Amino acid sequence: MALVLGVGAFGNDVRRLQDYLNRELSSTLVLDGSFGGNTKAEVLRFRNRFGLPAAPVFDDQCFAISADRGFAPPDFDTHPSKSGVNWPRRPTGLSSPDGATMQAKCGTISFVHAPRPGNPEHIKVTNNFEAANISAVDIPQLRDCVVPTGSGVVKTDGRIRFHKKHMDRLRKLFADWEAAGLVDRILTFDGSFNLRLKRGSTSATVANLSNHAWGTAFDINAHWNMRKTVPALMGDRGCLRDMVEIGHANGFYWGGHFGTRDGMHFEVAKEML
Ligand SMILES: [Zn+2]
Repeated sequence: MALVLGVGAFGNDVRRLQDYLNRELSSTLVLDGSFGGNTKAEVLRFRNRFGLPAAPVFDDQCFAISADRGFAPPDFDTHPSKSGVNWPRRPTGLSSPDGATMQAKCGTISFVHAPRPGNPEHIKVTNNFEAANISAVDIPQLRDCVVPTGSGVVKTDGRIRFHKKHMDRLRKLFADWEAAGLVDRILTFDGSFNLRLKRGSTSATVANLSNHAWGTAFDINAHWNMRKTVPALMGDRGCLRDMVEIGHANGFYWGGHFGTRDGMHFEVAKEML
């Protein structure tokens, strides 16, 4: 599928595009990862500089020029065996933990339902779970990662709040993704530790708690892998399917394998708790 970046696009690839245009054209774009009017103007300059027809998008023609000059698109494996909605396969020996298991293995969360505007699943914790179990872990591969806010974008400093027991696991996962050349698949970071019920839940039971509440889950590339939708396919912008097998190797279960697909989501598998 053709990769096209235009006005309204956001993500780390846009941030890298801005950085590339600054170097290529001596521009002074802010590296915010959000494609707005200034980025569009520089893309038009780029196209003019290299003799491409005027268009407000960075498309395949542009990538054909930029690819060996410092800005290449992700190199997805185009083998037909990896092109379908069911690749990669569900892992053997890994599963998604339920609330009772999480309480037993990751610390007991005592809580009451405390809905907030825009976050109806929010809970308020009434014991010391957070102080006892959650801390910040530095993930170098997530430094400056774009975070959508609903009204725009911000960037992380790479410090992610996660369960203390699984920080090394998380660090190794991202290091392994980097070693495999897959970090450029990550376009946005969309949260980790989050005191809430599963999306759509209304009753405050342990079974309804999201694994994000225990700090053992994180979301990336949410925009392209929304819950209840088919996660982006290999070659499509936002696809993270070729990251999943390394996730399995590190004991993470992918939400794309849930009965209700949640392709943005990775969590520590039950067998690793
Ligand atoms: Zn999630």
